[in-house]
Amino acid sequence: MDFSDFGFDPDLMEGISAMGFEKPTPIQEQAIPAILEGKDIIGSAQTGTGKTAAFLLPVIQNIIASREADKTRALVIVPTRELAQQIDQQMEGFSYFTPVSSIAVYGGGDGTIFAQEKKALNEGTEIVICTPGRMIAHLHNNYVKFDSLKYLILDEADRMLDMGFHEDIMKIIKYLPKQRQNLMFAATMPNDIRKLARHVLHQPLELNIATSKPAEKILQVAYVVYETQKLPLVTHLLKGRDLKSVIVFCSTKLSAKQLGRQLKRVGLKAQDIHSDLSQKEREEIMLDFRNRKLNILVATDLLSRGIDVDNIELIINYDVPHEGEDYIHRIGRTARAESDGVAITLISQKEQFKFGRIEKLLEKEVTKSSVPEEFGDTPVYEPSKNRDRGSGNFRGGRKGKRGGNNRGKGNYKNS
Ligand code: ADP
Ligand code: MG
Repeated sequence: MDFSDFGFDPDLMEGISAMGFEKPTPIQEQAIPAILEGKDIIGSAQTGTGKTAAFLLPVIQNIIASREADKTRALVIVPTRELAQQIDQQMEGFSYFTPVSSIAVYGGGDGTIFAQEKKALNEGTEIVICTPGRMIAHLHNNYVKFDSLKYLILDEADRMLDMGFHEDIMKIIKYLPKQRQNLMFAATMPNDIRKLARHVLHQPLELNIATSKPAEKILQVAYVVYETQKLPLVTHLLKGRDLKSVIVFCSTKLSAKQLGRQLKRVGLKAQDIHSDLSQKEREEIMLDFRNRKLNILVATDLLSRGIDVDNIELIINYDVPHEGEDYIHRIGRTARAESDGVAITLISQKEQFKFGRIEKLLEKEVTKSSVPEEFGDTPVYEPSKNRDRGSGNFRGGRKGKRGGNNRGKGNYKNS
């Protein structure tokens, strides 16, 4: 199948080829015709499978085919500012040769930005990509032109629910015309997503492209260590290797900050990124990372989903993530599109049980590499025995279970 099979407008085709897209991915092949036909859809496919273009392209096409001047036609709601910007960038690429306009509306920034957003919403920019809170702030005033809105897209719907945006989403929907096409995308399909889908979607077509298993191309290895060995080991893994693009994930802001400081101290081009930094600081860091001015990003799970940086060579999980799905999202940052990637996880004793649970979700054992001798003795890997009962991360009856519908907001607040 080829993009030309969808009957897209030549101006849109030009944007697609300028973006370097040659063939549609499986989710695109299935979603695009259904969306063009006007169906509601709920689509799940792991990260990096091209869900953004799967909804943007048919929506742009339909807008080109029936333009109405000065009206917002599509609203894309996403969980984070970074994702809003990233989708807007793809949008600008695809629509470059078309007359279709778009704007990303997200929090942060100063009053000037709010005023610019207000102007764009008032003038009826055709595609609006927003985070929930910021959209509500605009809706409370009365200039947003949603009366001709035809498309509602909820991207990373699973993440939005994890972050506690359910109510905000429902509040925004109240401002939209009832007659519309609804598209919902998620990397995973836990029960609360299905429930939201029942509320928002109308007889949706369900597209499931595989389950959230990591791409086969990712080489996964783990080191079984004592907590105190993590810092020296990660420094050892990163030093003297000329790595251009690495993300180290930590479970808390505190550990990201400490590790960022340590890596800088040993002369690595590293930087921590988390929710304590301002929007502007985060943007600058991401830009430097994309431009390879920074080689190592030490991040919390804020970055594990949705953010797309090409050619990440290595992912290190400095802490074992709380949930299997987070593990999959983290390592999904590498081996995007064509390239291979490596994901290394450091497992402390009290994290062994958690990692064992992740291996169950993966339905495979991750290779345990041996730690260089200079680091001394290491613990034995016995995940069923080394259970940290005190951490509060394990809830009864969830052992090895897929999905994260009882994942609270708590995890995210740590990011
Ligand atoms: P998802 O939302 O499923 O995580 P994205 O939409 O962010 O994935 O896409 C991941 C990466 O793959 C992006 O860099 C995107 O530009 C690229 N991509 C998506 N579809 C295609 C395609 N058909 N051909 C080439 N690259 C693609
Ligand atoms: Mg996405």
